[in-house]
Amino acid sequence: LRKRLMRAEKMEVVSHLAASISHEVRNPLTAARGFMQLLAQSQLPMDKRKQYMQIAIEEIDRAEAIITDYLTFAKPSPEQVEKLNVKAEIERVIDVLRPFANMNSVEIRSSLIPFHVFGERDKFQQCLLNIMKNSIEAMPNGGTLDVYVSIGQDEVLIRITDTGIGMTKEQIERLGEPYFTTKGMKGTGLGMMVVYRIIESMGGSIEIISEVNKGTEISLSLPLAKTVAASAKPVRSLALKGKG
Ligand code: ADP
Ligand code: MG
Repeated sequence: LRKRLMRAEKMEVVSHLAASISHEVRNPLTAARGFMQLLAQSQLPMDKRKQYMQIAIEEIDRAEAIITDYLTFAKPSPEQVEKLNVKAEIERVIDVLRPFANMNSVEIRSSLIPFHVFGERDKFQQCLLNIMKNSIEAMPNGGTLDVYVSIGQDEVLIRITDTGIGMTKEQIERLGEPYFTTKGMKGTGLGMMVVYRIIESMGGSIEIISEVNKGTEISLSLPLAKTVAASAKPVRSLALKGKG
């Protein structure tokens, strides 16, 4: 069964990602602190000790995963919308993910053309990373991740295809919903929310085609930046870091 979904219009209410980050990270840190405090009790049996330790570690891992989903490429300087070379940005993200792909026996293939789009570099890379990381995680026993760039009339198309576990119709519908994850403790359910938010800010759209046990294809459509002057239309800036 092939399922299609256009989702650029169906945005989540989370409007300020920057505000969410400190909130999202603080929760697991507070929990970890609480369990460490419990650990400090002298009368604690060994099995409880181990259990609390395990929970504290899981909470810290969660804080780390949230930072990965939001801030992998963040820099201290304020970001600006600039003309981005899609090929170069994808190559950068593939480089970052290569060790993770190798660990999962995932082969990355790409066919890239240096078209340009307008956006903030960190956010665009974050968006590509979140999508490709999900693709690799969907192939725990190996597979192929394909990244293909093409051009339409006025848009650049980026197609990211995996041969992984795929998604049901219900899962596709919930994609991008905050905290929706099928990865249990290892998932944040925030990666795709960040993706939708960034693509929306760039004036683009997302299409998902997925089939259970076959794989998933995620297509991004972004306005083509022909020349700097011709596209003087300001792209709304997206605050991912600093104070919202
Ligand atoms: P997380 O990766 O932390 O679970 P995301 O927001 O990145 O959160 O993804 C949400 C959910 O969407 C995942 O848990 C998974 O069920 C599903 N998903 C996303 N991308 C894929 C994919 N390429 N293949 C299969 N399922 C996917
Ligand atoms: Mg993810």
